[in-house]
Parts: sequence; structure tokens; C-alpha cells
Amino acid sequence: MTDYGHDLSFGSFLTPGNADPQQTVALAQESERAGLDLVTFQDHPYQPGFLDTWTLLSYVAARTERVHLSANVLNLPLRQPAVLARSAASLDLLTGGRVELGLGAGAFWDAIEAMGAPRLTPGQAVDALSEAIDVIRGIWDADDRAPLRAGGEHHRVRGAKRGPAPAHPIEIWLGAYKPRMLRLTGAKADGWLPSLGYMKSLSALTDGNTIIDEAAAAAGREPAAIRRLLNIGGQFGAAGSGMLSGPPEEWVDQLAVMTLEHGMSTYILSSDDPHDLAVFGQEVAPALRELVAAERATADDGATGRPSVRLTAPGRGGAMRRPSPAHPDAELSADVDYAGIPSRLQGKAFTPRDAGYDDVRSSYMRVGHPALVIMAEDADDVSAAVLFAREQDVPLSVRSGGHGIGGLSTNDGGIVIDVSRIDGYEVLDPAARRFRVGPGATWGHVAERLAERGWAMTSGNFGDTGVGGLATAGGLGYLARKHGMTVDHVTAAELVLADGSQVRADAATDPDLLWAVRGAGSHVGIVTALELEALPLPHGNVVFAQLVFDATDTAAVIERWADLLAASPRDLTSFLNVSAGRGAQPPVAHALLVWAGDDVDAATAALEPLLDIGPVLQQQAQLVPYAALIAPRDGRHVGQQRIKMRNGYLRRMTAEDAAAIAALLDHSVIGQVELRSVGGAIDDVAPEATAFAHRDAEVLVAAWGMPDREDDFRAAWATVEPRLHGVYAAYSSDGRPEVAASAYPGAALDRILEIKRRVDPQGVFRGLVALPDGDAVSA
Ligand SMILES: Cc1cc2nc3c(=O)[nH]c(=O)nc-3n(C[C@H](O)[C@H](O)[C@H](O)COP(=O)(O)OP(=O)(O)OC[C@H]3O[C@@H](n4cnc5c(N)ncnc54)[C@H](O)[C@@H]3O)c2cc1C
Repeated sequence: MTDYGHDLSFGSFLTPGNADPQQTVALAQESERAGLDLVTFQDHPYQPGFLDTWTLLSYVAARTERVHLSANVLNLPLRQPAVLARSAASLDLLTGGRVELGLGAGAFWDAIEAMGAPRLTPGQAVDALSEAIDVIRGIWDADDRAPLRAGGEHHRVRGAKRGPAPAHPIEIWLGAYKPRMLRLTGAKADGWLPSLGYMKSLSALTDGNTIIDEAAAAAGREPAAIRRLLNIGGQFGAAGSGMLSGPPEEWVDQLAVMTLEHGMSTYILSSDDPHDLAVFGQEVAPALRELVAAERATADDGATGRPSVRLTAPGRGGAMRRPSPAHPDAELSADVDYAGIPSRLQGKAFTPRDAGYDDVRSSYMRVGHPALVIMAEDADDVSAAVLFAREQDVPLSVRSGGHGIGGLSTNDGGIVIDVSRIDGYEVLDPAARRFRVGPGATWGHVAERLAERGWAMTSGNFGDTGVGGLATAGGLGYLARKHGMTVDHVTAAELVLADGSQVRADAATDPDLLWAVRGAGSHVGIVTALELEALPLPHGNVVFAQLVFDATDTAAVIERWADLLAASPRDLTSFLNVSAGRGAQPPVAHALLVWAGDDVDAATAALEPLLDIGPVLQQQAQLVPYAALIAPRDGRHVGQQRIKMRNGYLRRMTAEDAAAIAALLDHSVIGQVELRSVGGAIDDVAPEATAFAHRDAEVLVAAWGMPDREDDFRAAWATVEPRLHGVYAAYSSDGRPEVAASAYPGAALDRILEIKRRVDPQGVFRGLVALPDGDAVSA
């Protein structure tokens, strides 16, 4: 969790269109009237449809009184830095200190070159920006009487006169995404200015902040001295369906999380709609300031105690943060008998009117509006909650870590039984490395505890993912080829069934139910505890490598990666994330590789051949604690990632498969293709041994698509789907009944239906995938 304690500011990000120039100026004035602090414009000097940004800033400066002004961000390759420094200082003097300087390294190189500037590689462009900053700061440093000599290969001044000094210390903000730019931000800039739309998730903000902070510390700077700005977009509406898409109160909650947990503090709304600007400035900004101030005050009061038996920070409605405000006028559901909520659940059940409801209503993938959220604290609570919920005629969701891809762990108008507070951890048998863990624990915290004994557990790649959802569905992570799926290590489970009864399933007691829990747990009950056998990892370390390739020949990179992984020792597991090119940037393939141990020589030998799968843009390998690789972040869920996922397995990657997968990136709806190496230890287990039955593949092919374009996504995915078999239900947002036979292939589906008939014939629990004849199973 990162909060730099910065004051909050708010701005607008306006299109500098020249079709109606006065309209653009009017929007800037509207921003000022709405109470915003900052007005910014994009800068594309090669674009004839736009007003020149610097000229526009100067004009707007004369037509406004209070707002600060900046480009967002200036195209440095087309702005000579020494002249720019004097322009900025001059405008700052003229406005009494209202100018800031957003800078970018340049992105659209064809257009930049066409305007007469030299084309630079990404690395050169960062170097050029770094030199330019030195030149700009040198010009502003009018107190230094010595002529300015600064810069290097790309920008150089040789004895320039300094000055004028600006009216106030102009801040330099960088539009940075990649590590080199982030490091430059940490080393030299006053602010980081990315766009949320270019981030895969909020954690990318935390990751960026970490790089910036490290670079700042290395440069002897205080990381908190660097402002964290964020361009955001969204819609104001009645009912929210995700990140920044809903009423202003939802925006406030979501921006509070970005502030308190991801360190951002200046929010710049991209909109040319005067109504949006007014709501943002007059409703969102003051409410967010108030909420953040209250949260910070609570944190300062020293509310830090973490119960020792618990693994996760009880952030979602728990004791560490002040609960979200009550909404006394919120509508309650006519279909829920609120008066009949069992007395043992008092204080643990949150209606839309209750303080704390906003903290618990959403999951990672979805903003929810449930009629009731029950935060169960033990199995008896879960039994009481199930018996109550099944009497209400509304949907029921079950939630552990809240990271479910399909967004099924919250709902609109229904009941959520949340077991995140059942998160205890206990070693049962040190010799057998057997431990017991609650479903609400997250894998990052479990990894930390296991590491204390030189143990580990194969799980997902995200430390925030819950034990309950992952260990009942599969569990495909960085140690998969060496150690298989998480479900392969589950030896016992305790569950609450649909009739409220509490049962244990292990090899001796109801092995059938244990079979179902290991892959189809969501269909049969609510798991309240699991026992697993940990893996030995004596020094706690693994070799973690990241290779970034120019994937212009996307199909070849994919095919070579798959071939090499299939032939690699099973100690090596890899994910390959492939993204389409943007502007002049080529498509990029990012390989994450984990060698399941600390034998650096063996790891190096296995990694080296991978350097040949394409032109290497970046490479990095290090020995890291496995627990650090999946470190928990403990964020509150606010529907922060709205993407849709699809996946399927490939037995063997052929050239035709690779070409089809590469062609997915031609569809604008596809954000990224993710390939995961499987096989190895996963296939050592017989398909019929667990309800997770995908035991004969080399690659899991997944893709994520933009939300709200479901039809386009389905059409794009249909181009590869016939090549694939099976679906990993926990990594797919396609929960239609047609998917059931692919999610539970072979005899698995029939066996699940048979067990379901015994333990949940009325279909109280809706699993990850809808069952073919509905969740109720006739006897
Ligand atoms: C960013 C991201 C990265 C991911 N990476 C991986 C990965 O590397 N490997 C991988 O295998 N998966 C991965 N997943 C998928 C994720 O592991 C699954 O969706 C998993 O179900 C999440 O568990 P949870 O407890 O956090 O989810 P929740 O949202 O709490 O639950 C998801 C579903 O699981 C069921 N469920 C939850 N708790 C229980 C319980 N106690 N008893 C019975 N059923 C329950 C419910 O049907 C619920 O709808 C990722 C998901 C995200 C969003």
C-alpha cells in the first residue's frame, strides 16, 4: 500500500481541436468555474486538426485567472528544450506562476520525422529527454552566473545565457510507462503523469511507483517529493458497471483507493463535456478530499493492529480503515427479509444503507450492488448465512479473495457470503509439511508464512488472489510445470453445504466430495478450511527472469517459445504476454520465466536458448524469494479491472496455431494474448483424479478483451477457439452452460452432476460455469 500523503488536485484534459477554437477555450474556462485546479491539452504538433498547444496555453492563460496550465504532455522531439525553457518561464511570469511542464519522449515517430526531427529509438528518446531536462533546468537557474553548458548527444547548449527564472518552481512531469522512463522520472522529474487507460490494472500504478521510488532513492531524492498524476476517463451514470463508470460516489470510492493504496493524487479527467467537468470539480473533488482526509486521519491515529492469527489485512470492511459512509436513504431490496437476518450475523451483515457497505460490495473485476453482504467470521456464520440466503429469492454469490475473473463473487440485488475474514493459518504436521488455511487468506500471505519454514505452494501469479477461489478451481502459477496445480496438493476440505450442514472431506471421509472440491468446489458448497501439503523450497528462492522481445514476427516468437518450453526441464515455467504494436512501437512479447529453485547454473542453461526466440529488447534475471514474487497488496476491491477473459488448451503448438494466435492481436478488442506453459507435473496426475481434468496440454492460450465489446470479443476469440480444447474455468469470464463440458471434460462433468445431486440438488450454489440444465440438478 502506498500513500505519499500528497494534497489532492484535479484537472481537465481537453482536446485542442481547431474546428471551433473558442469552444476549446470555453472548456478551459468551464474547468476553472467547476473548481478544477489544472487545465491540460495534448500536444501533437504534426496534427493539423489541432491548435498548436503552446500557443493555445498562452491564449488560455490570458482568458483564465486561477487554474494552472500544462501540456499533457509536450512532444519533446519537436520542442527545442532551451527555447521551451524560456517559453515556459515567460508564461509563468505572465500568469503569476500558473504554468507546469508535462513532457513526453515522443511516440509517433513517422509523424515526428515527417516534421523534420530525427527518428530516435525508444532508448535514445529517453536519453534525449534526460538531456533536455538538464538544459531546461539550467536555463531556469538564473542565479547561476556561469554560462550554461549542458546536455549531451541529442540536446546540447554550449555557453547559453541563463534565465529568465520562472515566477514559481515549475514542475516537470513525465508521461512514463516503461522502466527506463520511470527511472528517469524518479531520478529527475517532479511528477509522474501516466494515463490509466494504458494500464492493465491498478497494480501497474503500484509497480510504476516502486520503480520511480527506487530510482529516486538511488538519486538521493525523497520519493514523496515526486507528485503522482493520473489521466483518467469514464462516464457518470446512474448505475456503475466498473471502474469510473457510475455515480460520483462510486468515482470517489475508486479514486480513494487509487490515492490511499496506489499513491496517486492528481486526477486529470479526459473529457470535453462541460457537464462531466462540472460533476468532477463540484461533486467528486470535494467528496474525495474529505474521504481521503478522514482515512489519513484514521491511519495517523495508529489503527495498525493486525490480529496475529489472521493473514490478510482486514481492509474490506474490517478494522484497519474507517468504514465507508452510511447511505441512510439507499433503497433496500423488497426480496430480502432484512428483519429475519439471524442474530449471530448482526454487525457482520451489510445492507446498502450501512456504513462499510461500499467497502465490501465489489470484487476486483466488478462493481457490485448486492442487497446484502454477509462477512462471515467462522463456519457457523457461514451455515447461518446459507440457511438465510436460500430462503430469499435473489442470486447468491460466494467470495473469498474477490479476485474471480468472471466477477461472480458479487452481484446486483442478491446476497454475497464473503469468507475473507476466515483467513487463519496453522501448521498441522511439520514433518509432512501439512498446513490448514482459511479460504479468506490470500496466496501472498500464505507464501510469506510458508517461507518461514522453507516451504512453498504452487498458486497463481497474484498475491491478492484468495485461497478459497483458487484452490477449489485449479491454481495455475509460476511453479506449475514443476509442482502441478494447487488442487493437486489439497488433502482435505471443510465445507458448509447447501443445507447449512458442516462436513469434512478427505481421503477417508467422503473422498467423492474431496474430488469435487479439487477443481469444481464452487459447485458443491462453501469451503471454510483447506488442508494442503506444502512443497519444499529450502532457501525460499527461485530464479526469476524477464525477457522482452520485439514480436514483429509474432507467430514465430510464439511458436519458438512454445517449442522451447515444451522441451525445457520441468523446473522451468513461463508465461508469455504478447501485445500489439502501438504507433511506431512494434508488437512486444514479454516472457516471465521462473526456475523452481536456486540452482542458478541450471536455470541459466535452461534460459539461454530462449534468448533466440526473437530480437531481445530487454533482459533481466535474478534470484528472488518466491514469496516476493507473489507479494500481497491487500487492496480494497472496487471493480478495478474490467477486462473479459477467454482461454483454451493446446496439446502442441503448430505453426498454424501460432499464426492464428498472433492474428488475434489484429482485433482491436484484444488487449493482450497470454500464453502459459503447462504440462510437466500437471500431467503426472490422472485426469480422473481431480475435478480439474486438463492433464494433457502444453500451453494454455488466453486473451483478454475490452469490456463492453462482448460481441467483438466473441468473434475474435472464435478465430482460435476451434484449435483449442478445454477451458480453465477460473481464468475465463465465459460462464455460459455451453462451456461446462469444456471446463469439466471427459467423465468429470457427469461426476460433478452426480455429486451436486447429492449435496446441492436445488442449485443453491452457482459455480464458476453454469451447469447445462441449470444449477438445480434433478434427482
Ligand atoms: C489479475 C488476476 C490474475 C489471476 N492469475 C491467476 C493465475 O495466475 N492462476 C490461476 O490459476 N488463476 C488466476 N486468476 C484467477 C483466479 O485465481 C480465480 O478467479 C480464483 O477463483 C480467484 O479466487 P478468489 O478467492 O480471489 O476469488 P473470488 O472472487 O472470491 O471467488 C471466485 C469464485 O470462486 C468461488 N469461491 C470463492 N470462494 C469459495 C469458497 N470458499 N468455497 C467455494 N467456492 C468459492 C465462487 O464461485 C466465486 O464466484 C487470476 C485472476 C485475476 C483477476
